[in-house]
Amino acid sequence: MAKFSRREVFGVGAAGLASLYLPSVALGSSQGSRGRPRNVIFCVSDGMSAGVPSMLDQFLSTVHGRPSFWRRLLQDGRSVQTVQETCSLSSLVTDSSAASSAWGSGRRIVNGQVNCFPDGTRLIPLYEVLKDRAKLATGLVTTATITHATPAGFAVSHPTRDEEAQIAEKYLSLGVDVLLGGGDRFFNSSSRADKRNLYAEFARAGYRVVRDRASMLALRPGRKVLGIFSSSHVPYEVDRRNRKELRDTVPSLAEMALKAIGMLQDSPNGFVLQVEAARVDHAAHSNDPAGILYDQLAFDEALEAIVGWADQRGDTLVVVTTDHGNSNPGLMGAGDEYFDSMAGLEKLAEAKASFTTLLAQVGTQPTPESVREAVREHLGIGLNAEEAELVSKAARRASDLQKVDLYSGASSALAMALGNHYHIGWSGPSHSSDWVPLLALGPGSRQFARGWMKNSSVFDALLELYGIRFQNPPQMSREEMLRHLGKRKEALRRAVREHWLA
Ligand code: ZN
Ligand code: MG
Ligand code: ZN
Repeated sequence: MAKFSRREVFGVGAAGLASLYLPSVALGSSQGSRGRPRNVIFCVSDGMSAGVPSMLDQFLSTVHGRPSFWRRLLQDGRSVQTVQETCSLSSLVTDSSAASSAWGSGRRIVNGQVNCFPDGTRLIPLYEVLKDRAKLATGLVTTATITHATPAGFAVSHPTRDEEAQIAEKYLSLGVDVLLGGGDRFFNSSSRADKRNLYAEFARAGYRVVRDRASMLALRPGRKVLGIFSSSHVPYEVDRRNRKELRDTVPSLAEMALKAIGMLQDSPNGFVLQVEAARVDHAAHSNDPAGILYDQLAFDEALEAIVGWADQRGDTLVVVTTDHGNSNPGLMGAGDEYFDSMAGLEKLAEAKASFTTLLAQVGTQPTPESVREAVREHLGIGLNAEEAELVSKAARRASDLQKVDLYSGASSALAMALGNHYHIGWSGPSHSSDWVPLLALGPGSRQFARGWMKNSSVFDALLELYGIRFQNPPQMSREEMLRHLGKRKEALRRAVREHWLA
């Protein structure tokens, strides 16, 4: 595979980038886990089942001979480790908007909505509270559309996650200081239904607007930045790393995170920043091993850069977690005495494209031969005739697996065929109800030393750090929810389904 050193990936290397943003006077040593933070950086790897960080660590150890940063965080004993449960009001299995809203409002809500109850009650989102009461500057960084459910849940209240064009307007109304991610189609007058040019509106409000990696990296410090780097989601990391035109124009998650920090660090009262590796979730939905590992690697590199910066400050709480599990991938025992499992990870090093790129190339009517060619070209693996036929039939919707909800998609069939080579198994194509890890380090991390916590407790934990006493309206009960849902239930159901097919 193409080897990417940290220096190549970051352009100047993590330490080099971090040093660009160091304050002229260091702010003193760590205040310990009990102190109050000046800043909070909340890092989310969306849809990261508990096995994903360990599989990344094993991949890096096997192929590159080095551990993940996640492992180093666990090993050095500095972080508080907690298990987080992830339910929503409507299901044991949350979607990303209800999950983010649990952090963002302290309340369980219905999947598909953002910080509101189904009767229309608006819940005040975290960023609004922290901006009003603690005068914090605010930032959102993501590899999804910037208006996607996870970042939205920190900053806005909206009846449905689907109306991203309106969510973009709400970011402007609230005045989120730094916004970096994808989603041009929700800002551009040519693709917005109302033909408004949101870039121009943000610029009039004092934002610097950047549309590519070089312009973003060239930004000088100062708040109010809108950076949008793709029409929809930012490309999968495995695609970005392997295509020069993407590498040149689209920043990495670490670059976006460090730039956002650079823009926010001089805010007089501190800042709160959400950093999301959004496409770990998307790769999990499509059961794509290289897709998920490279986006988790981008998250791991962003964490290293963020924690490196925070360590030099001593005044920043870093929280690292996910909003829910997804499809529970795992490296499975294969061959006599499981000798063959490691070879699966080694083969993953040959992958140069996401399943999305590969399956778009073969289309909806592929022959087994065209599947074999695409898999050889993009993944460096020779499928046998039966494996290629399994995939081509699924793409043509002619597979027996059409009858099995959990495995009916072409990407599931591709994952199964490749399972013979990678030895990675998946439990389905959707979110799961598992408890997930949460790590916290730096001042205020003691707030998370609970062993086990509900996702909705994160809101109170964060407000308490700033001495803010605020509660949204009381939790709606499930009975009340069912009364209010009525005919809106179908629309909300659709919202969630459309999300994971995207
Ligand atoms: Zn999610
Ligand atoms: Mg997300
Ligand atoms: Zn998802």
